Amino acid sequence: MSIILDIRNLTIALETPSGLTKVLDGFNLQLEEGEIHTLVGESGSGKTLLAKAILGFIQPKWRITADRLWWRQQDLLAMDTAQRRLITGQDMAMIFQNPASYLDPYLRIGRQLSEVIARHPHRWRGAQRRRQHRQLIVELLQRVGIDDIDAVCNSYPLQLSDGVAQKISVAMALAHRPKLLVADEPASAMGQYTRSQIYEQLFRLNTEYGMTMLMITQDLTTMMQQTQRLSLIYSGQLMEVGPLKQVLTEPAHPYTDAMLKMSFLDSTHPPKTKLPTLPGSIPTSQSLPIGCRLGPRCPKAQRICVQRPELTTVQQRQFACHFPLIEISPHE
Ligand code: SF4
Repeated sequence: MSIILDIRNLTIALETPSGLTKVLDGFNLQLEEGEIHTLVGESGSGKTLLAKAILGFIQPKWRITADRLWWRQQDLLAMDTAQRRLITGQDMAMIFQNPASYLDPYLRIGRQLSEVIARHPHRWRGAQRRRQHRQLIVELLQRVGIDDIDAVCNSYPLQLSDGVAQKISVAMALAHRPKLLVADEPASAMGQYTRSQIYEQLFRLNTEYGMTMLMITQDLTTMMQQTQRLSLIYSGQLMEVGPLKQVLTEPAHPYTDAMLKMSFLDSTHPPKTKLPTLPGSIPTSQSLPIGCRLGPRCPKAQRICVQRPELTTVQQRQFACHFPLIEISPHE
């Protein structure tokens, strides 16, 4: 498979009361075309910041540097705003945790869907182009599992449940068939049934269209069924990345181990709450530890951990830890 998104040594520094702070600190991520890649980390780890950087939703005050931030061999950091918007509009879409932040509260859903479709007329070719927007809206809504189409189209966002509103945002993301879909905690605030429905719809997009997906979540249990590779982020640093099965059966990093134990303890662990399998809580951007940022919470930490560990590669996975949980043979 080819690498569609290639991020190396990405750092995003923000102005904080205590000065410039690296909220994302030398992060690496490679997405293979057509894969579902899950990014796991506690709230405050920089997951949403990373997602926004990928889609180019960048604030002027952010200082972004990277050895590489490439989308299909094109350097995103070298592009001007117009080029970047074009790439994002054509190739990428994002689903947010809170659909209310994405939908216009003053416009009926039908109108909003119509406007999204109109922005991407080139995507609908041949027979599809001749169809009316109405037909396209019906198709999209049926695809995300909405049957009561007239009622939903005539509603304002606040009249819909969170689950239905999130399905609308999935339909909008689908309208221009992006090559990359970034889903940021797409169902974390929903009940189990709705959550399963949302994920099912997303997984179908991957199967039917080969859409590459970056799923940002703490809901590791649901993702275990579908994801091919897993990345773990803590306080802006990459802890471990690798094929799902390898990471699950033999975690190399203490943080991975803690996240897995938490998932087995409680699959519905809500976001923005403490991780029960590690003492303490994630540091704020004003009080970041030096070296490995997990240090103050890590059961294996030693003095050397104030020096940031290099990424170690073992077969298909990488991890950053001075004292990994797996044996590394000298030739690896
Ligand atoms: S480098 Fe040290 S502090 Fe960081 S995870 Fe490994 S053992 Fe823990």
